[in-house]
This record gives sequence, C-alpha cells and structure tokens, in this order.
Amino acid sequence: MANLVAEHIVGGERVSGGSKNGQLAVRNPATGEPIGHVPSGGIEVALRAVAAAKSAFPGWANTPVGDRVQCLFRYKQILEANLNDIARVVVTEHGKTMGEAIGSLRRGIDCVEYATAAPVLIMGNTLPQIAVSTSFCRTEDQGGVGLDSQIDRVPLGVCLGITPFNFPVMVPMWMWPMAVACGNTFVLKPSELDPLSTSMTIDLCKDAGFPAGVINLVHGGAEVAKALIAHKDIRAVSFVGSTRAGAEIYKDAAAAGKRVQCMCGAKNHSLIMPDANREAAVDGVLGSAFGNTGQRCLAGSVVVCIGDSADWLVPSLVHAASKIRVGPGCEAGVGMGPLVSEAAQKRVLSYIEQGLKSGATLALDGRKASMPKTGFFVGPTIFDHATPDMSIVREEIFGPVLSVMRAKTLDDAIAMANQSEYGNMAVIFTDSGNAVRRFTRTIQAGMQGVNVGVPAPMAVFPFSGWKSSFYGDLHANGEDAVRFFTDSRVLVTRWI
Ligand code: NAD
Repeated sequence: MANLVAEHIVGGERVSGGSKNGQLAVRNPATGEPIGHVPSGGIEVALRAVAAAKSAFPGWANTPVGDRVQCLFRYKQILEANLNDIARVVVTEHGKTMGEAIGSLRRGIDCVEYATAAPVLIMGNTLPQIAVSTSFCRTEDQGGVGLDSQIDRVPLGVCLGITPFNFPVMVPMWMWPMAVACGNTFVLKPSELDPLSTSMTIDLCKDAGFPAGVINLVHGGAEVAKALIAHKDIRAVSFVGSTRAGAEIYKDAAAAGKRVQCMCGAKNHSLIMPDANREAAVDGVLGSAFGNTGQRCLAGSVVVCIGDSADWLVPSLVHAASKIRVGPGCEAGVGMGPLVSEAAQKRVLSYIEQGLKSGATLALDGRKASMPKTGFFVGPTIFDHATPDMSIVREEIFGPVLSVMRAKTLDDAIAMANQSEYGNMAVIFTDSGNAVRRFTRTIQAGMQGVNVGVPAPMAVFPFSGWKSSFYGDLHANGEDAVRFFTDSRVLVTRWI
C-alpha cells in the first residue's frame, strides 16, 4: 500500500491544503517508509470548516431526528461493506494486527449503532400540573388554572473533536455520530500520525446522505486544534489524548466558555489474588499489557501480585509473552505489531533503561525479541519487583512494558494502586466475591473489571476515567454523551 493521499473535507468537498501549507507525511511503522500524506497547517481551512458547519447547523438541527438517524443507518451499512479495506489502512498506518484493527472498527460501529437510538435517547420529559395559578384567573371549577412543565434536549451548534493516534477510526466515532444524531454539526481534527483511515471513514459520510457541512475534517497538528478550540463558533470540545494536552485543552476551552470533556492518559493496575483462575489471569494480563502493542488507555501495564501469586504468574507471563510473534500487523500469525513512530520507540526504550536503573528486575527483555530490523519495534518486556515510586510504574509508557509489583494483602495492593495519579481502569482476578466487593468499593478507577483483562465499556456505557485520566463532567459514550451534546430546555406553560 503506497501513496495514499487524503485531503481536508469541508462543506462536503475535498479541499487540498495548497502548496503554501505543505504536507504531513504518513509512515508505515512496520517499515518506517512513507506511505502517503495529508495537507498540514490548515488554520485557514479550519476556519472555513467551522463556517461550513455553522451554516449547515440550522437546517440539520431542524431535520427531524428520525430522518437524521437514517443517515447513520446507511452509514453503518457502508462501514460494514468497507470494513476490510478500512482495516487494512489502519494496519498500514498505525501498525495494529488485522485482528486488532477489525476489533477496533467493530467498536466504532457499536457507537454508530448506539447513536441511531437518538430518537429515544434525546426524548424529553413532561410533568403536568406542577402548580395551580389562583391569582387572577379562575377556571377549572374556579379552583385555578393548572401549570404544566416539560424538558426538551436540544442541540448545541458546532462541536469539535480532537482525537489521538491509537484508535484512528474508533475514537472519532465516540464523538461525531452521537453529536450529529443529536442535531449538532461537527468539525474533526484527527491525529497527524495516522489520519488516512480517519479520512476514509469521513469521506464515506457523503454516500450515507449526510448534508454538506454536517461533518467536516481538518488535518494538522496542535496549532490547528488550538485555533479551533479558540474559535468563537465552537460550542463544545471533545478531546481524547494525553493528559499533558488534555489538561491544557480543558483549561483553555473552559476559560473560553465552552463545554469540554477530555479523556486522557492512564496507568492501569491488574490485581491478582492467589485464588485466581491461573489460565484466565495469564491470558487476561497478557492481552491487556501487550494488545495494541501496549498503546491503549485501557492497557493493564502494572500487575500487583497478592500473596504467593507471583510464583506462578510471573514465570507463566514470561513464557507466554516470549512466544508472541512480533512483526508487521499485516502478516498472518503476528501477535504484536510495531509502535506508531520512531519517537514512540525511543520513549519506550528509554523507559526500559529507567526500569533497570531504578532496580526492577528485567524478567523479559523486549529489546532482544526476534523482530524485524527496520520499523519501530520493541518486543514484550516484563519487569518484576517493581515498586510504586519507580517511573515505570508511575508514568504512562504507552508501549509493551509490563511492571509487576508484589503485595502481602489485597488491602496493600489496593493502597499501592491508589497511589497512581491516574484512575482510568483497574481489574482483579479472583474467585472470591468478598475480595471483589472490597476491590470495587475502594479502588480509585472509573472502569473496573473482574476476571476481565480489558473492561472496555460498550457504547451504551460511559467511558468513565477518573483522576488525571479525565477532565470534565460528562464522559464519552452512554447517556453522558447524549447530555454532553445537548442542552436542556425547560418550559412552564399556563393556558388562561
Ligand atoms: P496527544 O495528546 O499527543 O494527541 C492527541 C490529539 O491532540 C492529536 O490530534 C494532537 O494533534 C492534538 N494535540 C496534541 N497536543 C495538543 C495541544 N497542546 N493542544 C491542542 N491539541 C493538541 O495523544 P496521542 O499520543 O495521539 O495519543 C495517546 C494518548 O491518548 C495516551 O495518553 C492515551 O492514554 C490517550 N488516550 C486516552 C483515551 C481515553 O479514553 N482516556 C483513549 C485513547 C487514548
């Protein structure tokens, strides 16, 4: 796959960046080779995209919601028909295996399906006879006129999405399908690292019958995102990405009077009780730590072994992880692809050095894995005897590095996990209902799992990160998304 080119999509038209702004090269991380490009530095295009979304808003907001969701029903069919082609582009520009790419697309389609329920989801409520007016009008048998009240959910206007590289199709679908189903129009600024598959999916909106300007796409880096966030006509900002960027965006967007939700970075803990089903624990930890090459906000990158569970868990993990085939995601039998970029590879290698310097035991060295010489590969890496103060435990590595800590009791393990700055997810492997109850009530993480490695919520549930994993009030997906993308309007009526 070579020379893939995508453009901005503004007002239903593909717009090239113009020679002045240059291009952003997109690379295949499995080879390091350029495979295509998108226009860069589109601030002027970004302003046009907001204008297109603004002018499309009144017509789209007035389109009956039942008609709006017909576009999403058609869009879902189009995605199904193009699933393998889109997945191949995800594999080529991001590095996922084909199975991971298809799985992520299915999760994106799940969001589209949920958004088709908008006619029910945005339905309001009424409460008749909230009061009786006796001041000057007396009817209803002279007892007074009744007052009724209702609440409607109405769209906001132009909404903005800023998305990360790690799920270039799925994460944008946490945002725009529900936003437009609710009657908003949308501007999306995808990651500059793998924007080709995102572009492909937005390009398909036209075939689904979305009117021009309802969904717009602008390429570029942080400078384009910042210009969009600051734009006076943007009403709401939905961001997914690092805590560093999310904290800044939350502050800036809120100061500019915008509604904002920022789903951010993570460092997730998997707790293993001595009574856990061993096969399920090994399988769950392995998939969670090394799936998507560890580039997942739900990656379980720290294990806390309780009691003597490390005695069987660590050797089994090392054995199973050393068997994962590392290579290009397009090859059959490959279990783990490359990291997204050379910078990501360097960062992960530097954390392996930091782990060694801090005194953790390198039980499996991913630098020595059998893997291609070109491309941005690092093999599965496991540190044992890690402690909460080490950077490999505290910081988000966002790569295939798993750190194992040891605790005497469940309460000690929970206390160690709760030292984390982050609170995206935590899981426990055990057969004990009592342990599960203590865990779920005291662990500080908004997404929790029991005997599940990656407790990813389906689209009907919110993506509920806590602490530095989230800034805002309403999360992505679930009922939260409906409320995030609508305003409440309350009406009180009296018929005299
Ligand atoms: P990133 O923060 O570098 O970039 C994300 C997006 O924000 C990109 O579109 C980028 O161009 C833009 N951006 C970067 N800096 C910005 C700034 N200062 N102002 C405005 N826009 C800016 O993140 P990434 O490396 O692409 O993605 C990985 C991160 O995303 C990880 O931390 C991961 O945990 C997180 N993530 C979180 C969730 C979640 O739901 N909590 C889901 C997926 C990924």
